[in-house]
Amino acid sequence: MVGIAFSKLDAFNFMAKYVFVTGGVTSSLGKGIIAASLAKLLQARGITATIQKFDPYINVDPGTLNPYEHGECYVTEDGAETDLDLGHYERFLNTPTSQANNVTTGRIYQTVINKERAGEFLGKTVQVVPHITDEIKHRMMLLGQDGKFDVVITEIGGTVGDIESTPFIETVRQIQWELPTEDVMVVHLTLIPYLNAAKELKTKPTQHSVRMLSETGVHPDVIVCRTEHPLNDEIKRKIALFCNVKAGNVIESLDASTIYEVPLLMLKEQLDLIVMKKLQIQNYKEPELTKWNGFLAKLKNPKSTVNIGLIGKYIELQDAYKSILESFIHAGAMNEVKVNVVNVHSENLTAENVKEQLGALDGLLVAPGFGNRGIEGKIVAVQYARENNMPFFGICLGMQMAVIEFARNVLGLQGAHSVEMDPNSPHPVINMMEEQKRITMMGGTMRLGAYPCVIQKDTLAYKIYGATEISERHRHRYEFNNEYLKAFQDKGMVNSGINPATNLVEIVELPNHPFFIGVQYHPELKSTVEQPAPLFVHFIEAAKKYANK
Ligand code: GLN
Repeated sequence: MVGIAFSKLDAFNFMAKYVFVTGGVTSSLGKGIIAASLAKLLQARGITATIQKFDPYINVDPGTLNPYEHGECYVTEDGAETDLDLGHYERFLNTPTSQANNVTTGRIYQTVINKERAGEFLGKTVQVVPHITDEIKHRMMLLGQDGKFDVVITEIGGTVGDIESTPFIETVRQIQWELPTEDVMVVHLTLIPYLNAAKELKTKPTQHSVRMLSETGVHPDVIVCRTEHPLNDEIKRKIALFCNVKAGNVIESLDASTIYEVPLLMLKEQLDLIVMKKLQIQNYKEPELTKWNGFLAKLKNPKSTVNIGLIGKYIELQDAYKSILESFIHAGAMNEVKVNVVNVHSENLTAENVKEQLGALDGLLVAPGFGNRGIEGKIVAVQYARENNMPFFGICLGMQMAVIEFARNVLGLQGAHSVEMDPNSPHPVINMMEEQKRITMMGGTMRLGAYPCVIQKDTLAYKIYGATEISERHRHRYEFNNEYLKAFQDKGMVNSGINPATNLVEIVELPNHPFFIGVQYHPELKSTVEQPAPLFVHFIEAAKKYANK
């Protein structure tokens, strides 16, 4: 449908329509949630949409950033380490994303520089425009290429005016100029602050941010205003007038009690209709949101509360365990309970204070992680859950801690550890994976993405999944040391799930405990509103039982 004559891209036949989402005034306005909500509404109307995120930083991917810097690193089926917004996209849309859905400045430059070294631009000066912007453009258009999606929504990370995102914005300008007007649009998200002293909502920051965007040559078609108070018509008209958009295209995004409410708020504001009108999409149905509404109804009307301890070392930062927290929300709604997550800093946990800190809880989740900090506290927490029949769920590092605890306290293997924390442990019950030993580069080299796992019948894992073959996503370098397998089995720890190709232990559990399970993979990455992760659902169910006792 659309043929664009830019260098090297003629070969592509772009079949999708493109929506770009930019942000102004401040960061953290929730562009990802607005993008995901728009995609959800389009999907509910029978239009296939996908979302991609362009991040301005120089890291090739966020895998090398620590959670304090950038929150959780989200892993896709194909093993890409990506921005946590991709998690929202999957949770909202219930469809997987991939490496193509997350691009960073680092990846763009790496590609262009590799091409330069290979001689692809021989004789030419390689420049931001057109070489970097051409590469960005190529990646921005890519997902719309094969007819799989009607609409590709692209979230531009950062805030308009940032030095770093300039090449992305410049590329949006080119695309907005080159594509037919009915094939591209820009949604700009801003903040309307409320001045308490003046009792007034202020539009000036929005005017400034739209002016800054316009100076780059990009014109927003829609302005979505984050606000704590409803916007009246007069304010909307004022914004429209000063910012050069149609009055009906200024919409409010009020603070919501849950992110899962935002699609409904956007439906009320008719964001989907505005977008479809601009993109001249005529073929759509009434929005089908039965499942979504059913989930929301349960989420908002819990019958009781369970208190779950989240034992980790990044607990000060909400975003560090994003997918786990969202999985609790999905699983809580399924069980019609409110999951109250109690953050427990593993560094502060000791054998002396463990009862006081964990005694009132209904279940413990020991979180994923890397490195030594807070490790002994995690082991103390596992021991408490195991000995007190409290529901326990260990994820990745959490599973490894369960193995170490069992080795030390049940098998009596003094000094048992993971070689990650203690390379000279006399009992390395968690060992580095063989293929990892040859690896010297840190970026993108863990065991990443989806791998199959075969589940043994008559186990808790089988009861939870109801299947003997599953697939889950991974992100780790260390594994259960199979030399100790027999010793663990003899003392009653069951390895109920293994990787069929390598025998890598994927699941451990204790049959003589009401609910004790550790998994080497990350089930939280596959939990969505419409398909909550079974492990979380059953863990919360067990916690509910424990609470009722
Ligand atoms: N650090 C551990 C490993 O690399 C666990 C990783 C994780 O929890 N994601 O195996």
